Amino acid sequence: MPELRKDYFTKRLVLVSAQRANRPITLAAPKYTLTTDRNSCPFCPGKEEMTPPADLVLVSRDNTLLKLSDSEEERTSGWSVRYFANSFPAVVPEPDSKYSDYPLQGEPAFGYHHVMVVTPEHSATFGKLPVEQWIDILATLQDRVRWLYSKKTVGYVSVFVNNGYEAGATISHPHLQTLTLSKLPPAIEEEAEAMHDSMTELGVCPMCKVVNVESTSARSILSTESFLAFAPWASTHAYEFWIFPKRHETSFLKVSQKEIQDLATMLRSTLGGLDLALSNPPYNIAFHISSEKKTTKQIHWHIEVYPQIVKWAGLELGSGVCINPIPPETAAQIIGAAARKELAQLIGIT
Ligand SMILES: [Zn+2]
Ligand SMILES: [Zn+2]
Ligand SMILES: [Zn+2]
Repeated sequence: MPELRKDYFTKRLVLVSAQRANRPITLAAPKYTLTTDRNSCPFCPGKEEMTPPADLVLVSRDNTLLKLSDSEEERTSGWSVRYFANSFPAVVPEPDSKYSDYPLQGEPAFGYHHVMVVTPEHSATFGKLPVEQWIDILATLQDRVRWLYSKKTVGYVSVFVNNGYEAGATISHPHLQTLTLSKLPPAIEEEAEAMHDSMTELGVCPMCKVVNVESTSARSILSTESFLAFAPWASTHAYEFWIFPKRHETSFLKVSQKEIQDLATMLRSTLGGLDLALSNPPYNIAFHISSEKKTTKQIHWHIEVYPQIVKWAGLELGSGVCINPIPPETAAQIIGAAARKELAQLIGIT
């Protein structure tokens, strides 16, 4: 049963989760494979029985968007977005593992692990989804993140996308995942500490300052009314980019309907630009949001996109120091040009 183990010395956490190995993939083979075949895809319409009943299903009827859910006996058809428990969760609501002490520190990995299938279309891509679909995805995500934070054992909701085999996906049908942890993960904890220090010493949000600096820098990619995309100064991945709300906001749940529309356009343009510029590379997306539970550790929420083009190797894994062969300024130029082309096309269409 899943256990959350802490590194002896650093803050690094590892989910030891043997049941993840039970995923329907070629176990005998030395590596995982990607299910790209529509006929064996559990995320396609008509295959709903292959997954647990959905907690939330978006269905459009008579021009109204309905939020429905499946029952154990019956699955909802005609959906546009579908959210259900992961069949092979890395965390579970009631793990039977034990707490253990230094130096073998571990604790039961309490939590909920879900999948959101973001489109009924098997061969769709995040970079080509209509903006309207992106709006539905983001609104559904807000709804589910709120729901997850209402649960007792949830300290943090991690939202991420694995897109492509090299980015860790085992099913090609576009989907995102939510996984909850009982406490803040190290990546958020470190950002929150930096935020806290800057707030107390200088009285300013360091992330607002970054948005300010990068909005006119050579690393700027795309600017919309409420959001800025840029290649971060110390990008750990080639062609990495981040999307920040320009207005200081810690809570993803407080993003307004108008801002959701703007963010949908931003995501569609930049991911479309990434696909256009680099011919559909594998990538991961991570939402960095503040916990909605009572904590002083807050961050200015944002989204980070890591293309998986250059593999992390010995230096990265062994030292935590990354080699990036693509200067962020060059990445911004290339992704920026393609993203602006995508945006122009979107605006031309609408
Ligand atoms: Zn499919
Ligand atoms: Zn801020
Ligand atoms: Zn971040």
